[in-house]
Amino acid sequence: MSLSLETARERDRRDPLRVYRDRFVLPPGVVYLDGNSLGALPRATAERLRVVVGEEWGRDLIRSWNQNHWIDAPQRVGGKIAPLVGARPNEVIVADSTSVNLHKLIAAALRLRPDRRVVLSEPGNFPTDLYVVQGLAEAGRCELRLAEPEAFGEALDHEVAVVMLTHVHYKSGRMHDMARITAAAHAAGALVIWDLSHSVGAAPVDLGGCGADFAVGCGYKYLNGGPGAPAFLYVAERLHADARSPLTGWMGHAAGFDFRDDYEPAAGMARFLCGTPPILGLVALETGVDLIAEIGVDALARKSGELSEAFIAQVSGGRGAGELELVSPADPRTRGSHVSFRHPHAYAVCQALIAAGVIGDFRAPDILRFGFAPAYLGFEDVWRAADQLGRVLDQRLWALDEYSVRSAVT
Ligand SMILES: *Cc1c(COP(=O)(O)O)cnc(C)c1O
Repeated sequence: MSLSLETARERDRRDPLRVYRDRFVLPPGVVYLDGNSLGALPRATAERLRVVVGEEWGRDLIRSWNQNHWIDAPQRVGGKIAPLVGARPNEVIVADSTSVNLHKLIAAALRLRPDRRVVLSEPGNFPTDLYVVQGLAEAGRCELRLAEPEAFGEALDHEVAVVMLTHVHYKSGRMHDMARITAAAHAAGALVIWDLSHSVGAAPVDLGGCGADFAVGCGYKYLNGGPGAPAFLYVAERLHADARSPLTGWMGHAAGFDFRDDYEPAAGMARFLCGTPPILGLVALETGVDLIAEIGVDALARKSGELSEAFIAQVSGGRGAGELELVSPADPRTRGSHVSFRHPHAYAVCQALIAAGVIGDFRAPDILRFGFAPAYLGFEDVWRAADQLGRVLDQRLWALDEYSVRSAVT
């Protein structure tokens, strides 16, 4: 073990991001290691929602679309997310869910490569990403091919229209080399879609520097936008004129309020809107994004590496270490902000940890996952989590019957 409780507290005192912890609501007695699944609540969000609900909706009513700038919210919030992912403000817009945005971008990419029909991804990618491709395949629009990215050499042939990968893997935390894979795809004549759901707000991302074509990402994880927050999508500016969304709604029309019968796509990212934007979700997301942008992505990425390093060292040298197998890359440069271990009774261990006040999560079939949201966690949290994990394993606390009963959401 490398950390004592005292040294953990000392590291927290020296941490320049320490001040941001108080900007979040964190229940006492809980070590929250699930910010990669549902980010914590920023203190400012409740007040912002109170104003938007009470004054903008309650008093200003429909005038708010113009007066309170509701109509610009998808572009405005997208513009604030852009610097977090190495994009220009006009290349990102907030809309719909990550799943729906994947559908839009895969269809857009296929349309740009009409003589190819393969979508190349990897086995074990996040399920919704694969399901969305399967839906398009069922409609006769494409074919899904799965290969390990290390072996993309062969799989990346002249039939591949688009490579679709998640930058930081949701289970293992492994981070792909975005620049290298994007360049390989381009050399083979394919386009690339990156899913940034487990990266944005915690890991360094440079879409522009990597020459990426398309990307999507989630609003409710490290961006702290709240449950079911709207997601975002990115299209490189060089593709704006030609990329088309298959979901052609009035909010993506060049002149939606002319109420014409014929669809004509808006210029720029606006064409990737479909229906009316969810304003309450957007302002909650904006509050989370403002806070993450204020802290800055470099400082967040640095601290996330330090926290996960400390946790791995602490667990590896602690009680019960022999029962755990590190699934995440040991090298922090190829790891995102969460750490996963394999354990034969991972579900029960996770439940016993939650009962002890350490909220991580379980991913079927045997993965224990711990997310280190750098904006609000510290080294004392790392110490407590490792200490409790050691206790649960050492004393076999997970073996109680009550910890084996599964709920609907795991
Ligand atoms: C969380 C996550 C999603 C979420 O998709 P929703 O449509 O918001 O439910 C998608 N892809 C990845 C890789 C994720 O981690």
